[in-house]
Amino acid sequence: MAAVNYLAASRVYAKGTPPAVDALDLDIKDGEFMVLVGPSGSGKTTALRMLAGLEPLDGGRIEIAGRDVSDVQPKDRDIAMVFQNYALYPSKTVAENMGFALKMQHVHKDERDRRVREAARILDLDESMLSRKPKQLSGGQRQRVAMGRAIVREPKVFLMDEPLSNLDAKLRVQTRSQIAELQRRLGVTTVYVTHDQVEAMTMGHRVAVLSNGKLQQCASPRELYDNPVNQFVAGFIGSPAMNLQTAPLTDGGATLAGTVIPLAAPVRAAAARDQLSEIVLGIRPEHLHLAADGRYPDTAGQDGAGAGAGAGAAELTGEVLLVEELGADALLHVRLAGGDPVVTRAEGRKPPAPGVRVTFRVDPADVFAFHPVTGARLAG
Ligand code: ADP
Repeated sequence: MAAVNYLAASRVYAKGTPPAVDALDLDIKDGEFMVLVGPSGSGKTTALRMLAGLEPLDGGRIEIAGRDVSDVQPKDRDIAMVFQNYALYPSKTVAENMGFALKMQHVHKDERDRRVREAARILDLDESMLSRKPKQLSGGQRQRVAMGRAIVREPKVFLMDEPLSNLDAKLRVQTRSQIAELQRRLGVTTVYVTHDQVEAMTMGHRVAVLSNGKLQQCASPRELYDNPVNQFVAGFIGSPAMNLQTAPLTDGGATLAGTVIPLAAPVRAAAARDQLSEIVLGIRPEHLHLAADGRYPDTAGQDGAGAGAGAGAAELTGEVLLVEELGADALLHVRLAGGDPVVTRAEGRKPPAPGVRVTFRVDPADVFAFHPVTGARLAG
């Protein structure tokens, strides 16, 4: 096991083009499950390949267990990679596939067999499976064999690049919890790449969010959700996504759909310092508290103030454009008066119908404010 450190690590594929990975500083702790997440082209795979030694560095360095590995061959880095495309040898059995890297390293047959059996046991692949060929396995089983191939090497670090993307949605959910559980049991430092923020949030101890080759924020899933440092992270993490709307500043607040949303003094001070006339407001769907027949569903016994939207709450009205029924709940797309549509959740059984006018209550404490140009969070 080992810590991994990226120190201002950069990769520029072609002179004159922006770096694919731009001075990445990231400290991954011994035994940690770190997820790199971001949209396509944000530099996740490149960052992983730099750690694997498959991509050279054009600046900075990378350390594994405190050793600078920038010039160390991939095979000497003590890492094992699980790719999106498992690339199992079709003519070899499962056991041979799992033990192949060890054979190449001239590990004795008895030791190879021991490690393959141990990995199979860890992965719940039964004995009969070991003599099968990859084509006789389901997608999920093939995925486990690919994991097994990494486990038998007993590496210091696991690197995983979208290892679930070939699985169907249901199996992906199952397998993601299996991988997270496996990582917990083995305690091996793991760097996991995905574009899927749900996968990132459910699997990672910490999540590093990348955009355009730059690290935006690295934090626990909870911290990313509750305290995004900028508009990019705020909009990327969370499903359905945070509602983001440009709002002109007024005395004491910002105007959204004709309603003044009060802003905290530090936010107003930051906006004044930057001489802003407008800001971007961010509201999570669950913070738009829907009124049912003029009453708020969570107001009972709360002195008329919602549990999630207390005294000083602002009211917003709009028209339901679209209802997405998900079963337990429904997503409402609502056009605010004079504004863009926002998304909120409603009770699944009786959501308001399209065309109906609805009222929301929002607690100003739940509202995020971002710089309209840089996207930086205005301190609250
Ligand atoms: P992600 O994994 O987040 O989708 P990548 O690391 O694959 O992102 O790519 C980051 C950027 O580097 C993208 O702009 C991509 O087009 C570019 N890129 C990736 N691989 C190469 C390559 N081999 N040659 C040139 N540019 C590349």
